[in-house]
Amino acid sequence: MTLTSTIAGSLPKPAWLSTSEKLWAGWLHEGETLDQAKKDAMRLAVADQERAGLAIVSDGEQTRQHFVTTFIEGLDGVDAVDRATVTIRRRYEASVPRVVGEVSRPGGVFTEDARFLRSITDHPIKVQLPGPMTMADTLKDDHYGDMETLARVFAGILNAEARDLEEAGVDLIQFDEPAFNVFLDEVAAWGVEALETAVDGLETETAVHICYGYGVKANIDWKNTLGPEWRQYEATFPLLADSSIGQVSLEIAGSHVPLEVLDLLGDKSVQAGVIDVATDRVETADEVAALIEVVAGHIPPQRIYPSTNCGMVPLSRALAMAKMRALGEGTRLYTG
Ligand code: ZN
Repeated sequence: MTLTSTIAGSLPKPAWLSTSEKLWAGWLHEGETLDQAKKDAMRLAVADQERAGLAIVSDGEQTRQHFVTTFIEGLDGVDAVDRATVTIRRRYEASVPRVVGEVSRPGGVFTEDARFLRSITDHPIKVQLPGPMTMADTLKDDHYGDMETLARVFAGILNAEARDLEEAGVDLIQFDEPAFNVFLDEVAAWGVEALETAVDGLETETAVHICYGYGVKANIDWKNTLGPEWRQYEATFPLLADSSIGQVSLEIAGSHVPLEVLDLLGDKSVQAGVIDVATDRVETADEVAALIEVVAGHIPPQRIYPSTNCGMVPLSRALAMAKMRALGEGTRLYTG
């Protein structure tokens, strides 16, 4: 039996597209030249994933400066130029767009990218969107004045975007909700409901990615405050088990997540983070296969999608490639 491997999300960008190993790095080109450069970067990202032997491929978010703000900046009612600095995920400051009026989607934000991705690979394809709660936490709201209200508006917008992605031939649509590990009361009160709105009516496979963030200092410092066992998933997984989301993508490798939380996911499929993105050390295929084996003690193998803990945009390209190879080889080793 073959397991379906895939990365959680982003990949580093080529040095000729934007500054490497940096979040929110600006583009080094503009206009038509930038469009061409992004497409070339997508081709390379896809080729690297295929060469690593991964089953489902993505565009590595090569067209995005950031996994949340680029989507927000594609909407009307948003000022992306006169930005504000706010604390996001209750832990670090970021320069973010401001919501200055009713938000709406003037057209597909990532639909063209998805069509291009579909045209350059025969593998199943995956596209990531930010989740509604994480969007509402990654901006300055000067209009709605209430996180839930804004998140619910975003959920409707995300649903329209997701339907367009489905139409473009995307096989797996993933919503990135790292905020689900931070705002636990809000997840229960309205977060999962908002996510349900985002996936409403979709026939294509859906996933939610919940992690402890990129391997950057602010996140590593935060993880060091979470104690010997990270039990945030314990609050959200039973809610997701009862939801219509198809897959849950979670962080496992190198984390303090107790694996019995997997038992709370009911019949969901699991994108199991068997590659740690917060360390420069490259996992061996043996280690990856062994961790998949441990996950299989909780989730039937046919529902396991070996994956990375999170996006790899802050890493060097060589390191990201080595980790993707480890993911591909470890998955094959487990499969036998
Ligand atoms: Zn993540």
